[in-house]
Amino acid sequence: MNALSAHTGAPSAALSQHTPMMQQYLTLKAENPEILLFYRMGDFYELFYDDARRAAQLLDISLTKRGQSAGTPIPMAGVPYHAIEGYLAKLVQLGESAAICEQVGDPATSKGPVERKVIRIVTPGTVSDEALLSERQDNLIAAVYHDGRQFGYGTLDIGSGRFFINQFEKEETLLAELQRTNPAELLYPESFEFMTHIAGRRGLRRRPEWEFELGTARKLLCQQFGTQDLVGFGVERSETALCAAGCLMQYVKDTQRTALPHIRSVRLDQPDHAVIMDAATRRNLELTQNLAGGYENTLAEVLDRTQTPMGSRLLKRWLHQPIRDRVLLRGRQSTISELIEQNLYDELGALLRQVGDMERVLARLALRSARPRDLTRLRQAFAQLPHLQTLLAGSEHEAVQRLRERAATFPELQDLLERAIMETPPVLIRDGGVIRAGFNAELDEIRDLADGATAVLARIEEREKQETGINTLKVGYNKVHGFFIEVSRANSHLVPSHYIRRQTLKNNERYIIDELKQYEDKILTAQSRALALEKRLYEELLDALLPQLAELQESAAALAELDVLANLAERAETLNYQCPTLTDEDQILIEGGRHPVVEQVMKDPFIANPVSLKQGRQMLIITGPNMGGKSTYMRQTALIVLLAHIGAYVPADSARIGPIDRIFTRIGASDDLASGRSTFMVEMTETANILNNATAQSLVLMDEIGRGTSTYDGLSLAWACAEQLASKIGAYTLFATHYFELTRLPELLPNLANVHLDAVEHGDTIAFMHAVQEGAASRSYGLQVAALAGVPKSVIHQARHKLAELERAVPAPSGDERQAQPAPAPQPHPVVEELEALRPDELTPRQALDLLYRLKQLL
Ligand code: ADP
Repeated sequence: MNALSAHTGAPSAALSQHTPMMQQYLTLKAENPEILLFYRMGDFYELFYDDARRAAQLLDISLTKRGQSAGTPIPMAGVPYHAIEGYLAKLVQLGESAAICEQVGDPATSKGPVERKVIRIVTPGTVSDEALLSERQDNLIAAVYHDGRQFGYGTLDIGSGRFFINQFEKEETLLAELQRTNPAELLYPESFEFMTHIAGRRGLRRRPEWEFELGTARKLLCQQFGTQDLVGFGVERSETALCAAGCLMQYVKDTQRTALPHIRSVRLDQPDHAVIMDAATRRNLELTQNLAGGYENTLAEVLDRTQTPMGSRLLKRWLHQPIRDRVLLRGRQSTISELIEQNLYDELGALLRQVGDMERVLARLALRSARPRDLTRLRQAFAQLPHLQTLLAGSEHEAVQRLRERAATFPELQDLLERAIMETPPVLIRDGGVIRAGFNAELDEIRDLADGATAVLARIEEREKQETGINTLKVGYNKVHGFFIEVSRANSHLVPSHYIRRQTLKNNERYIIDELKQYEDKILTAQSRALALEKRLYEELLDALLPQLAELQESAAALAELDVLANLAERAETLNYQCPTLTDEDQILIEGGRHPVVEQVMKDPFIANPVSLKQGRQMLIITGPNMGGKSTYMRQTALIVLLAHIGAYVPADSARIGPIDRIFTRIGASDDLASGRSTFMVEMTETANILNNATAQSLVLMDEIGRGTSTYDGLSLAWACAEQLASKIGAYTLFATHYFELTRLPELLPNLANVHLDAVEHGDTIAFMHAVQEGAASRSYGLQVAALAGVPKSVIHQARHKLAELERAVPAPSGDERQAQPAPAPQPHPVVEELEALRPDELTPRQALDLLYRLKQLL
């Protein structure tokens, strides 16, 4: 098999044995071996050989054959050129990339196939076309590298130019980063050793090792940013991360094939600035995705009423990266309260709605792929900015003023766009009609010429009618034959001799005359001249905007932030949230806390609950019946703490929250079947992560740990974990458990307290109170809950019987607690009994030896 057929599935034959067109195709394909190549032919994009087979399957289009090349038929599949965006969207969704190959030569002057070139490569992580992106979601491309000691990870958002890198040692951190950034495309080196962590992700791209080379990375990045070195970005020494960044940069340059002026810097993500959450915690708290993978009932769904897509994306980034910088947090809080007090958020929201997705429009401008409507949107955004300035001028708040300054106005650019672009231009510049009359004198003139055509043609028609005496004579136009004079067959004998026949139809004859021919040339040149001029003017317009790209991006960033803050102000008012106090004392004190999502979906009123975690009371053992509200209580605490760390108001009457470095959750049991880990294994892995990484400033939620194994194993593990968290680590811990034995811990150790959720029995059924009370629960109501769930009466009856039996066998630990006890322990083995009775100090050597033999025998 030769090099060509290796990538294409074309029959192995020398290139010269193929038809000239297939030679061209195969050469282009060889340059883009791994991605689908869409080859433009007339009104279609065609795919051949293996590409055709794959595309047919992926896009559900039919696989056909086209002639022969090198002696065999060519498998082919195609899509109409005007429908390409829809197909690309589908491919990108599937994590596939595509190279778009257009005709660039002039068909009239070409010998052999028209020259073609790959003009863009669409990949899931680098798309910027509006049609291919979800507007309220970041679309990132990432690269990961491992240098034998640590990981380097980089992400790039082509839709904004945001470029972040970081490096770390733990595999757990990689998982958390992947979960947080959720890249649409992930580049990794050929030799990557941690495939299990990334396998199954969409958009995986294996890259050659040398693309991660440090020297090349430095060179590429300096080139991109126009700097001598990378010191100014503070990333100089993050070498592992730079290796990943280099590969990213290379890939993006290769696929975009244009300058990337909006990528101006790279920043180091600093984990100690963030409240760290591992992958499981992000999942469990259902920040932007629920456990089933959807958007319903997530924190984002409740909180996101932002007016612009860029604001929505920013809010989601904040939710996924709560910060620890208290100055920044207090700044956000006070901005929100100012927007509430001055009642600015509504009006601000209305203005921002008109601003739209300035961020992505600017990215397309930077990539020179901005469409006419992008420019009208920019114009519309510019038009709002002066109003926004006036509105915010009413506030004397410092942070608001800073945002106001950053959201600068652009009167000249606004004026330029207003003069240059039509009110509602067509989608593409391709067919013209975009530049407004009066903007360019030359264009106006040429257009007049073309527009004058109708009048001139009417004049010619009238004159010819009179001269020939044929009343039904008509001047017409079609694409193939150009202008013509149409005369019915019956009248054709009246046609003068200077008429030249062009076309014979069933009932009519069509003629041309010199004058018409000349006029036609003039008009057609005028039209194509107008179009060429329009395209040039459009490019010049982009040139005029681009020098201010940095200021424009800064303005867009400020507007997005204003959007998020105005949104948080609106949410705080509408949902009755309060501003938390960020204290320096070690405490989490919440009065009347609510679960932001559960309170929205419930029909019944939500019962608000307090939390008090402080010195001497770092850990709460939470007991109570199933369905009592334990999980809700724990999660709401985590969500309140998280919201406080994005600077937002929180669903509580009041909250005082000390410094927090991490949030951990060990909640719910789900088999991670994909990676072959059982529920218990997942549970223990997550627990290990918590015990190894939690600190005294971490918030830890432990829900029902130890359930995946036998009762004694589970109880012992739960006990030991609780002890470790309480006495060794001292983390703020909410520990919900079914093991009633654990409620004894507060008697044995300092720093713990019992709280419980209660229920009351109504005859056969029970009602949950959902109110958190001090002290341990008195019973577990397991059978009542089972009855409530519809377990057949006979089974419940049987269970009651068994429970009574068990309780008789093992008396309850104290008082009237009727918690179901674990089955009695088995009788100890005789060897154990003998060993227990043994006093080694009293044994002679001879006795000891005899004993050993006896024990061996007993076994
Ligand atoms: P548990 O973890 O104890 O089994 P959950 O926290 O899952 O219980 O709560 C079960 C259900 O009870 C929730 O889905 C919700 O409908 C309701 N609930 C929980 N907490 C409250 C509350 N504070 N106020 C009102 N309803 C609540």
